[in-house]
Amino acid sequence: MVEAFAVASGKGGTGKTTSTLALGMALAEDHDVTVVDADTGMANLLFHAGLDDAAVTLHDLLVEGEDAAVSDAVYERFGMKVVPCGTSLAAFRAADPERLRDVVADLAADTDVLLLDSPAALGSKSAVLPIVLADRTVIVLQPTVPALSDGLKVQEYARSYGTETAGTLFNRVRDGEGIDRVAEQADRYFGGETLGVIPESDAARTARTAGEPLLAHAPDAPVSQAFREAARRLDVRDGGSDDVADRFRSAVVPEEV
Ligand code: ADP
Ligand code: MG
Repeated sequence: MVEAFAVASGKGGTGKTTSTLALGMALAEDHDVTVVDADTGMANLLFHAGLDDAAVTLHDLLVEGEDAAVSDAVYERFGMKVVPCGTSLAAFRAADPERLRDVVADLAADTDVLLLDSPAALGSKSAVLPIVLADRTVIVLQPTVPALSDGLKVQEYARSYGTETAGTLFNRVRDGEGIDRVAEQADRYFGGETLGVIPESDAARTARTAGEPLLAHAPDAPVSQAFREAARRLDVRDGGSDDVADRFRSAVVPEEV
């Protein structure tokens, strides 16, 4: 049984990919975890996971006529299954976003937790599908009150497809930013709870440069502890349905977004 989370945000650069891999590694201590770079237009998980030379990626699975098997794009790394996505614009253009349903259905058959690193903007099919497919969203936010309204748009959209909010993750929080007040507001408007307050940290930057997920690069750093704590709060549920694959395959793809 699987629970699928979309790691989403209203803006790029908030730390979705960093968070996806950090939550994934933390959850992998107790669960069988698969992380997917479903941000197919702005893929960067491959750089965070040392997979920039991956021969087969999600793009190859989304292009009609490519004969790659889903398993060819799955890499065992850092105690998880990792499905990177390529960065070629041509491949993104050639990709059929709807095929993500079948890919996710296949992956779901063989894992407990699916984390979909999701695109920031909501402007196209490829951008919204991960949120539509997920059971719950983790919304990554900058620690300011204005950023909450971006996150609320994501929440509203997700809810319109039956995807509830698992909680919010404040990332790159500096001392003195009044995070308590922001988190209090967030708790009022968002589903779930504040999963974590993740500090701004050099370790996150050096991990990215080293091509390693934060929890592999600096496992004992306070920033890594904060992600582990957030993962504990996620409280993974059993996906429930007997035919998991069917649930994803039959997801309604929005015509208008
Ligand atoms: P997104 O996937 O939302 O675009 P990334 O996870 O790639 O965001 O993060 C964007 C940049 O911010 C990366 O260079 C990353 O290393 C850096 N970053 C992410 N989280 C933190 C943090 N807590 N402290 C410092 N830098 C961070
Ligand atoms: Mg990213």
